[in-house]
Amino acid sequence: MDFKLTTLGTSAAGPVPGRWPSGQYLKTGKAGFLIDCGEGLQISLQRNGLGWSSIDVILISHLHGDHIYGLPGLLTSWGMNQRNTPLTIVSPPGLEPYLAAVFEHSHTGLPYPVKYIVVDPEQTPELVFEDKVVTVKTLPLSHRVPTVGYLIQEKPRPRTILSSAIQAYEIPYKNIPAIKAGGDYQAATGKLVPNTELTVDPPPARSFAYASDTRPNSALLPYIKGVDILFHEATFLNELREQAEISGHSTAAQAAEVGLAGEVKKLVLGHFSPRYGDLSPLLTEAQTIFSNTSLAKEGKVFEVPYGGRISA
Ligand SMILES: [Zn+2]
Ligand SMILES: [Zn+2]
Repeated sequence: MDFKLTTLGTSAAGPVPGRWPSGQYLKTGKAGFLIDCGEGLQISLQRNGLGWSSIDVILISHLHGDHIYGLPGLLTSWGMNQRNTPLTIVSPPGLEPYLAAVFEHSHTGLPYPVKYIVVDPEQTPELVFEDKVVTVKTLPLSHRVPTVGYLIQEKPRPRTILSSAIQAYEIPYKNIPAIKAGGDYQAATGKLVPNTELTVDPPPARSFAYASDTRPNSALLPYIKGVDILFHEATFLNELREQAEISGHSTAAQAAEVGLAGEVKKLVLGHFSPRYGDLSPLLTEAQTIFSNTSLAKEGKVFEVPYGGRISA
């Protein structure tokens, strides 16, 4: 089962040559999530082979243009490409009227159903999506306008039953779900076999947290504790931390401090100011604080394997 993050856009403010504005794509076992959708992001989706059938839910962090200006064009293109499956869009207030105005004045109709879920940034965490495999909750961020992050987490898995135990005790198929749920087994001989002899722990549930745009926010820490991947914005180098504070952003060093305090397994930085052509100083600054840091880059994939280590 997939748990794979694809970087689509890494630029703050607007597109610059080689960098699109904000966009991430997470593929889980069943559902595909697009997180933020800056201007031109449909090009980046196409380059990564992600058509409309790849995306079930769009999660929007806030209504600044570099996170939503790609939506009207993308949703329109999906209509022209005969999308017919339902779409869910989650965002702070205002997105539905914004899109409705664009579509009204551009004489556009969408041939597929769109369900809007409006979240309250003052009331986090809030469960906004759930299927058999994952849950999605909002996270508290601190920006200039109402903004939420997102936590996408796999649900706990049932225990793994040992095939050797099934054979040894000739366990019928109908008894297996109860054993996987933690139950003991009454063998045909009358012996009660404890669950610890029948099963081992399942692989840990995987998780991804998205934090952009935001100042470093201590309120975030309890919710991101130990996540496999934290995407955290790093708009500036630390020499511009006053500007970061005023504009509601983070520096690379501050993002690394959040990753360190949150004991995350991997930190991915993005939302880079267009002033930086060479991004390596941002990476160096963060890695002196939290070594397992990578820069997001258009097309770069970070995968959390089933029960394994993160690759990038
Ligand atoms: Zn932004
Ligand atoms: Zn913003």
